[in-house]
Amino acid sequence: MRIKAIQNSKSKIQNCGLFFAFILHFTFYIFNCFFTGCTTLPKEPPKPKVYLEVPANEYKPLVRELVVTFIDVGQGDSIFIKTPGGKNVLIDVGGTPYWKQSNYDPGEEVVVPFLETQKIKKLDFVIATHADGDHIGGMPAVLKKFPVGLLCENGIVSDQPEYEEMHKVIDSERIATSVLKQGDSFDVDPSVKFEIFTPPRDFYFEGENNNAVVVRLAYGDVSFIFTADIEYEAEDFAIKTYGDKVRSNILKIGHHGSATSTSERFLKAVNPEIAVISVGKYNTFGHPYSGVLAKLQDADINIYRTDEDGNITVRTDGKKFVVECEKNP
Ligand SMILES: [Zn+2]
Repeated sequence: MRIKAIQNSKSKIQNCGLFFAFILHFTFYIFNCFFTGCTTLPKEPPKPKVYLEVPANEYKPLVRELVVTFIDVGQGDSIFIKTPGGKNVLIDVGGTPYWKQSNYDPGEEVVVPFLETQKIKKLDFVIATHADGDHIGGMPAVLKKFPVGLLCENGIVSDQPEYEEMHKVIDSERIATSVLKQGDSFDVDPSVKFEIFTPPRDFYFEGENNNAVVVRLAYGDVSFIFTADIEYEAEDFAIKTYGDKVRSNILKIGHHGSATSTSERFLKAVNPEIAVISVGKYNTFGHPYSGVLAKLQDADINIYRTDEDGNITVRTDGKKFVVECEKNP
């Protein structure tokens, strides 16, 4: 009996060992599934770098395209728009703020060569969104190189050196200028619609960023919103003033993905399918902020970044659009 009892308990111990081995194995399997994805289940396909609103073979524009390129100027913004009617619009040129004391001039080294490869002879419309160096520092090189139909600003006279340098060239090249504010639109090409959402018509916000010119561009069913460096205050103003009209398929994220921009309210109102962040690799500001990236990921929005993807080009026939990345063709 005693022996049997021992045998029984030995057998119980063996059974217990098997049971614990099973539990251990199962726990490890669940742990593995949780962190790495179950090997027995099909894995999620990696997010494509060439995002297709439609499969490439289904994108066969019958009309002239609208082509928007977010140019990789490092830490800054520069957006080139070729309208279906063949007009050329440039929003900002990037640049190195004077206090960085760097010789890097993305106007001369990036934007001018880019426009030359596009065989651009004239810029019909140029927008300097605000007076910060990472948006207009490169402007002189571009303004000296190409004839400009009209250059528009936010109307604030700045004492920043980049603003003064830009205006020296505006004067020497005798470039016509104008001011853009909320409610304005400009008719550079009748097939597309450009609307200005901010700065407000009757007042300015504190600081440069919130007074930047925000442009919405629509071609047929496809729309873009270019938010320059606006922060929560100007975002709220745009929502309050325009409501659902801010809704756009493609959102240029404000202020290089800074923590002070892209509120959940604004993101919900714009409700974009893709987001583009114009940002420099290893920038000292910590852009883009991880919280902004998390908001975009939570909302299932495809993210494109100039620091990783290089030039980002969106082509559309007004019904469908495709996104092409220079570094991940
Ligand atoms: Zn900026």
